[in-house]
Amino acid sequence: MHDSVLMAEISWVEYERRLKEEDAIVLVPVGAVEQHGPHLPLGTDAILAGEMSRRAAARVGGIVAPTLSYGYKSQPRTGGGDHFPGSTGLDGDNLSRLLCDVLSELGRTGAAKLAVIDGHYENQFFLTEGCEQAVRRLRAQGIDTVQILKMRYPEKVKPETLEYIEQFYPNGYPGLDLEHGGILETSMMLYLFPHLVNMDRVPLDPPANFPPYDLYPHTAAEWVPPSGVLTPAIRSSGEIGKLLVDEFVDLVAGALEAAFRSPRVDRARLIAQP
Ligand SMILES: [Zn+2]
Repeated sequence: MHDSVLMAEISWVEYERRLKEEDAIVLVPVGAVEQHGPHLPLGTDAILAGEMSRRAAARVGGIVAPTLSYGYKSQPRTGGGDHFPGSTGLDGDNLSRLLCDVLSELGRTGAAKLAVIDGHYENQFFLTEGCEQAVRRLRAQGIDTVQILKMRYPEKVKPETLEYIEQFYPNGYPGLDLEHGGILETSMMLYLFPHLVNMDRVPLDPPANFPPYDLYPHTAAEWVPPSGVLTPAIRSSGEIGKLLVDEFVDLVAGALEAAFRSPRVDRARLIAQP
């Protein structure tokens, strides 16, 4: 129990010791409950954000707080939309306030280095607002020593990795927006949690073709392939998954090091330029 990087698996005494003696970074993974096609689980974003956080924490002396498993509403052009049974989204202000509460409490009880690790595209600006609110609330309590890093773990894929992966897309790499339930997520899940992937159920829909706008109320049922998968995932593999997981864990661990451990590192160089 003493070796775990998971906050939920250590005592308050051990937690306090790591904060004080090891200057531990506390990571807060955030996901979503959202359809990911017939072959991946509804919790894919939360599961992956939690696992990336766990691996990065082990590298940089971190503690992973329990994942915020619900996220902002699935949008048709990035997540297939909310018309799929099980896709369960929060209103944006609730997500911001939930994150604000968690960060403020972690800061109030002694964590000075906090990191929000986002695994769900639609969350991003509501999490930004949660960070801003937490800083404001902590300042009002007289606490101005807390710093919060926020990133999406798949912030960017290296050009050489993309070049390798592109060969597996029959119509070319569609971009991270359309990578919902596609080769990237399916491959990472195959590498990390193969028992949660059903490759027999991978759909053969062509890639989604969206107009350059959104409509409210959503017309997702007309726009989105019936499977919910926005790009063909049939050529996913554990090998691709390992490549991506290693790269993303490097990215998160490198970001935590740069922000919290070695301030003189050139932060912009963390991401390879195209
Ligand atoms: Zn996802």
